[in-house]
Amino acid sequence: MSIPLLQVSGLKKHYPMRSGLLRAGGGTVRAVDGVDFAVARGETLGLVGESGCGKSTVGRLLAKLLAPTSGTICLDGQPIDRLGSRATRDFRRRVQMVFQDPYSSLNPRLTAARIVAEPLLNYGRIPRAELHERLQALFMKVGLRADQMQRYPHEFSGGQRQRVGIARALALSPSLIVCDEPVSALDVSVQAQVINLMMDLQAELGLSYLFIAHDLAVVEHISHRIAVMYLGKIVELADKHRLIGAPQHPYTQALLSAAPVADAAIRRQRIVLSGDVPSPAQPPAGCRFHTRCPHALPRCRSEEPRLRDVAPGHAVACHLAPSTDAAVDPAPA
Ligand code: SF4
Repeated sequence: MSIPLLQVSGLKKHYPMRSGLLRAGGGTVRAVDGVDFAVARGETLGLVGESGCGKSTVGRLLAKLLAPTSGTICLDGQPIDRLGSRATRDFRRRVQMVFQDPYSSLNPRLTAARIVAEPLLNYGRIPRAELHERLQALFMKVGLRADQMQRYPHEFSGGQRQRVGIARALALSPSLIVCDEPVSALDVSVQAQVINLMMDLQAELGLSYLFIAHDLAVVEHISHRIAVMYLGKIVELADKHRLIGAPQHPYTQALLSAAPVADAAIRRQRIVLSGDVPSPAQPPAGCRFHTRCPHALPRCRSEEPRLRDVAPGHAVACHLAPSTDAAVDPAPA
């Protein structure tokens, strides 16, 4: 089997809590608590879950904006925590990020041309004489005009600003783009345009995306496979058609029942979850979802379900999910 572009194993990010001014001993926030998945070349893996489930922290760990507490992240089979300075620099070129709020992620004092040019100049990737032509090409690739290059971020609409953010991410010809809620701040019609642009770019450039969002409809549209996170863990991971058509985890079923569906034939009965998401500082024992699960059994309060295959490429962490003898392989099919 070929090595996936990205392989994540046992990834954890815990934050110590302070009980008083500069004093430790206040417990631990388990923002990400042991996740495993892989992203293939040219694939989009959607990562979905409620706010606070740890999905954005996963994105920041992958982009090396945060250091993990434990676990490994491999790009092309190379663990990224063991890279030398030169290889780390190459990793930062190959893994780019697109953020939720393009207004706060773009420097308001720089023109769009300067914003997109910065990574190219920092990496010395292009002679100055060729810079203008390269910038023009990047602007056209994301659907902006060359005459918009000298505008400042506040002179663009929200969708155009996100296009500038995408052009900046593309500048260094990355392999993987971590997209953290890239369209949630945009109007629905603009969301569709930006998603379609990202899909076109993927087809043209062979990019891989980790697409993080809370909106299942958006994730479904762009993803090949989808991972569902709850309280720091992946509870279900499958091909998008299987996950949407035959969800096995009660949390995925509840998320899907709340998602708007145009086709009345596949509209689901709404499952309303009681209670709030527990604090990641005090996750429940056993299955983390048992405090809200409509199907919880006595064993769910003490025995943590492991993520296991229920069908090829479909993994679920629930005691009620059907059994197979297969071990979990988080790699894409
Ligand atoms: Fe619900 Fe138990 Fe399954 Fe957890 S393991 S999702 S509590 S049935």
